[in-house]
Amino acid sequence: LELLSKCFSRPKRLLNAASNTLVHGFFHAEGSQEDIDEIVIAVYREGSGYTGEEAAELFVHGNPVGIAAICDALGRAGFRPAEGGEFTFRAFRRGRMDLTRAEAVKELVGASTLKGQKLALNRLGGALEKRITDFREELLEIYAPFELQLDYDESETDEELEFPAERLAALSGELEKLLSTYRAGRLYSAGAVVALAGPANAGKSTLFNLLVKEERSIVSAVPGTTRDYIEKTIDIDGIPVRLYDTAGFNEAGDDIEAEGIKRTEAILESADVIVLLSDGTEASASETVPGQYDGRLIKVRNKCDLADITGGADSADAFGSEAAEKGVLSISALTGEGVGELLEAIAARLKDGVPMADSELVIESAGQKEALERALGHIKAVRPEDGVEEQSFELYAALRELGSITGYVGSEEILDKIFSTFCVGK
Ligand code: GDP
Repeated sequence: LELLSKCFSRPKRLLNAASNTLVHGFFHAEGSQEDIDEIVIAVYREGSGYTGEEAAELFVHGNPVGIAAICDALGRAGFRPAEGGEFTFRAFRRGRMDLTRAEAVKELVGASTLKGQKLALNRLGGALEKRITDFREELLEIYAPFELQLDYDESETDEELEFPAERLAALSGELEKLLSTYRAGRLYSAGAVVALAGPANAGKSTLFNLLVKEERSIVSAVPGTTRDYIEKTIDIDGIPVRLYDTAGFNEAGDDIEAEGIKRTEAILESADVIVLLSDGTEASASETVPGQYDGRLIKVRNKCDLADITGGADSADAFGSEAAEKGVLSISALTGEGVGELLEAIAARLKDGVPMADSELVIESAGQKEALERALGHIKAVRPEDGVEEQSFELYAALRELGSITGYVGSEEILDKIFSTFCVGK
């Protein structure tokens, strides 16, 4: 604030401002009388604000020219730009937040659906910190008699240490429960890949456009016009889904298309769900699909709007009861009919086999998951037949792993790994 006051039209007012208040005035370069901007400064005194350090936030007009001049003047006055994640790191160092909350800041900023944001906000509120702290406290209680035993020569103690089999099993179960939320956490953060496939003219581009609700993909009546693929992230039931409009499984017509098909194959390989579209007005339209994709297919017959109009023998075949029995969905990418059911089917398939947490507490950080797994491994390695020394060693190792998740115990390396992925300004 001392430094900043030299660039401000009302230095005394700024220096005397109480914490968490706003001061209005004009910004100028140090030693200059020329105003650069009219600004408002939010003042934070030691012990308050995001970092807990004395801080100021400048609200300036959004003109890039003015902002550059202000940054330049601040640089000459002795300030430097923050590094990525530096504010959160300082907040962590100051004890304003533990590591699970710090990571939640990054996860919140990076969330691409409201559901993902909600889950991250829950962790930012301290739900994960509390769970991990509870685990640690329980483990400490289990550990204490072992350490006591270690401090005495075994001959000195009369009492046999009773092996806490039940408590260890219960704690393992709790750790496993939290670990099992990781897949759900990943589903709502990293998301999933869904590819549209099928023969030319089946209506892939039309469906793609409908799903992303904007004219992005080129719709054309000429077969094979989707040479390459087009991608867009959409929100399906809270899951960020990267949707690909691909060239389909059909073989290459020419060299340019061959390249597109190659890329298509790579997408189909990585896809969690493949929506296989066929033109429902053509009875023999469905494609032969390589067997490795079987488990990931959702078969869809498109253009069901035409079935009602023509009512001909062909369309009756294509949209008849036979199709429904085989679990093939009927939609119209043109009118939107059946598309809601298709989205539900996609969401159900993506969530299939992913244990959904009964609470809103899920983990999504790979580092947290790995530390939990290591803690679990150590707890499971505590065996009744081993000596107190080995048992204590494993319990202590588990304690350290749990402590590393909240930052209670930590290394520069762990901190570096976490904070290096933050963006500037957080
Ligand atoms: P793609 O080659 O699979 O991407 O197919 P397109 O999306 O380019 O569609 C091919 C043609 O079928 C276009 O003329 C679309 O307007 C038409 N089409 C796509 N979906 C439907 C549908 O549900 N009903 C009707 N009647 N026509 C459709």
